Amino acid sequence: MPKDTFEFQVEARQLLQMMIHSIYSNKDVFLRELVSNASDALDKLRLEALRDDTLDVDVSDLHIAISADKTARTLTVRDNGIGMSRDEVVQLIGTIANSGTAAFLQELKDAKDVSDTAAAEGLIGQFGVGFYASFMVADEVTLLTRRAGESQGTRWSSTGEGTYTIETVDDAPQGTAVVLHLKPADDEDRLHDYAAAWKIREIVKRYSDFITWPIKMAAEPAAAATDADSDAESSADEAASSEPETLNSMKALWARSRNEVSDDEYHELYKHISHDWNNPLDIIRLQAEGTFEYQALLFIPSHAPQDLFMQGYKRGIQLYVKRVFIMDDCEALMPPYLRFVKGVVDAQDLSLNVSREILQQDRQIQLMHRRLAKKVLSTVKDMMSAHPDRYATLWREFGQVIKEGLLSDFENRDTILGVASFASTHDAQEPTTLRQYVERMKDGQQHIFFMTGESRQAIENSPHMEAFRARGIEVLLLTDPVDEVWVDAVPEFDGKQLRSVAKGEVDLDSEEEKAAADSEREKQQEQFAGLLTWMTNELSEHVKEVRLSSRLTVSPACVVSDAGDVTPALQNMYRAMGQ
Ligand code: ADP
Ligand code: MG
Repeated sequence: MPKDTFEFQVEARQLLQMMIHSIYSNKDVFLRELVSNASDALDKLRLEALRDDTLDVDVSDLHIAISADKTARTLTVRDNGIGMSRDEVVQLIGTIANSGTAAFLQELKDAKDVSDTAAAEGLIGQFGVGFYASFMVADEVTLLTRRAGESQGTRWSSTGEGTYTIETVDDAPQGTAVVLHLKPADDEDRLHDYAAAWKIREIVKRYSDFITWPIKMAAEPAAAATDADSDAESSADEAASSEPETLNSMKALWARSRNEVSDDEYHELYKHISHDWNNPLDIIRLQAEGTFEYQALLFIPSHAPQDLFMQGYKRGIQLYVKRVFIMDDCEALMPPYLRFVKGVVDAQDLSLNVSREILQQDRQIQLMHRRLAKKVLSTVKDMMSAHPDRYATLWREFGQVIKEGLLSDFENRDTILGVASFASTHDAQEPTTLRQYVERMKDGQQHIFFMTGESRQAIENSPHMEAFRARGIEVLLLTDPVDEVWVDAVPEFDGKQLRSVAKGEVDLDSEEEKAAADSEREKQQEQFAGLLTWMTNELSEHVKEVRLSSRLTVSPACVVSDAGDVTPALQNMYRAMGQ
């Protein structure tokens, strides 16, 4: 059949260039990526076979097989999973569909200097590069695949330099085999000899032990090679008859107790699920016993993905039923404002055929959702006191998302307020919690004051801040878009009202001061009555009223909204939303 040549999409080409020039220092992870893909493919096949009786596939021996040929310097990772159609190969392997990765490449381009290894490595670590990681160790990669249920297969091949070829083949086994032609090995560098059985064994054990499918390695014919001359025939027999070795333990980490599992093992599971190459910030375990039994192993990532605020962002909770993978991105298990949490939930008493629709309505699932959300929030709360640095990272990366919960999760509103922190005039760098703010409140201060705006600087320069600065009263500086919305929905914290310094009357003084100020104000009122009437008339198109104010110390005038009015920033937001 004809072989067609295609060009990689521009972004894909950039990524491949980085892989070929191996800016990522830990090359071993290429195998983790291939095994991870193979494992996903097996999950998908089992699921599809379960859902579709007409699919004629054998699912009795699903596994991953790794084999190496030292002489030819090839390494093959094969699975008998779902496979890919020709179109899927072009789509999935030739282009980068993931919006996060595309954004990442943009960031890398903006940083210009791709040869800045440290920066590039950091970025790659954040997003992972999956299949393309093969090109760190291979100068040519061939992928032979056939999708379950289809009769013809596809061979894809590339050296990673700009183009790839595709041909249709008649006799491909179902599933996918990835054959890497390894780069010439440095003789000194035995540590990176990826054709060596010990090396493969080591990498699989380190990175993929928990994979729930057997990862097998064909028995090494070369094992008896030293005396091969004298006994060639019997050693060949031995190789043929010996069973392949299973390299991984296949133990589901979430079903094992905490002290049996090392952090490294948890981290590798996290990387498999999240496609992140960095370690998570925290690990959360939950075992629910009783009538509805389930286990959850959740992870808080250490950085926000690029597409966290994009439409169609995939949540990271995988649902298993009795160790069988059921679905990715199970939105029924985690509220939207905790969508950054990754992990596995394994339920004992659900049907393997459970659908998203059923999950949304299931009472047990709703209880599970509540319990998981509470558990995540309580973990954050504990982190605040036990690991303040970690908490600071978490809030920097995800605070903006968590605050969305103030609008949607009434039940946990107080908890969310309790774990939130905000920039404040109290300290130029360190954010404050509401609890800390309340503890610092001045005698007689009734409210928690805040101001929303585009940036710290914009707020600090606002005339609204003058009176507060003059009196040394702390103001929270809220600059996230979501702040504009939740402040109107949340009436108070710890019995103290939240008040905008830019809305309505602010009353900062004690009773006596107020009385004195009132009579002073009355006097001024008389004095300036004429001016105020004149100004109100002159400006009637633009403002409701012109009045004297005690809120300014330096600026001559400022524009104020009524307590119920939308703020200018919110007006902008609505305008941006087309309203
Ligand atoms: P990711 O796994 O993060 O999606 P990869 O680059 O690792 O990114 O893989 C891209 C896509 O190619 C996968 O999402 C999957 O759809 C497809 N793919 C890769 N390897 C296999 C495989 N062994 N079997 C079936 N599909 C695969
Ligand atoms: Mg992958």
